This record gives sequence, structure tokens and C-alpha cells, in this order.
Amino acid sequence: MARRDKEWARKQRNILHWLLGSKCYDCGTVEKLTLDCDEPQGDAHHRKMGWDCRMRFYWRQYYRGNLKLRCLTCNGIKGGSTDKAYHAGRRAAGYASHTHTHTIRGLQCS
Ligand SMILES: [Zn+2]
Repeated sequence: MARRDKEWARKQRNILHWLLGSKCYDCGTVEKLTLDCDEPQGDAHHRKMGWDCRMRFYWRQYYRGNLKLRCLTCNGIKGGSTDKAYHAGRRAAGYASHTHTHTIRGLQCS
């Protein structure tokens, strides 16, 4: 079952990549692409989700217009990729440090 879920998730991811133009939103490279939320949605949390939850999460972000395709480099520059950098960035921008309340709205995944 787990294996099939993974296959399914990979297919979903491929579709999303295709919909998002199959290249980095920022620099246009086609290598090392990752799905990235413009407005971080608590990445650390959704890493713990199963593949199916994760994909539903990404589709939701896609429909909200919050999903972009970014290469690892641009993703890193943006700072959302590491929680620490993200929070440092938030603080610098004047937000309270722990406002990411892991709001993955509407998802019922344990
Ligand atoms: Zn890039």
C-alpha cells in the first residue's frame, strides 16, 4: 500500500510540476525543482504527513495560487526551506516569532 501511495504521489507531483510550467519560477532552471509555497504553511509540520496528505496539501496551495515551482537554490534563498531561517526572516519582518500555528486548513490527517 505504501508503495502504491508513493507512486500515486509521484504522479500527482508530476502533474503539478507540469501545471506550474516545469521550471523554476524565479530563475527558470529545470533542475532540482521543488514545490514551494509562496506563503509558508508550516513546512516542518507537513513533512511528517503521509504522501497522500501532502499531495492534497499541495493541490490546495495550487488552487489558492500559493504554489510555485522553485529550484533548490531559489528555494534556499527565499529562506522558507529551513524553519530557523524562516523564523529569523519573520522576526526581521516584524512578525512574532511563532505565528506559524501549523495551519494546514481543512486537512484531516493525523
Ligand atoms: Zn531557481
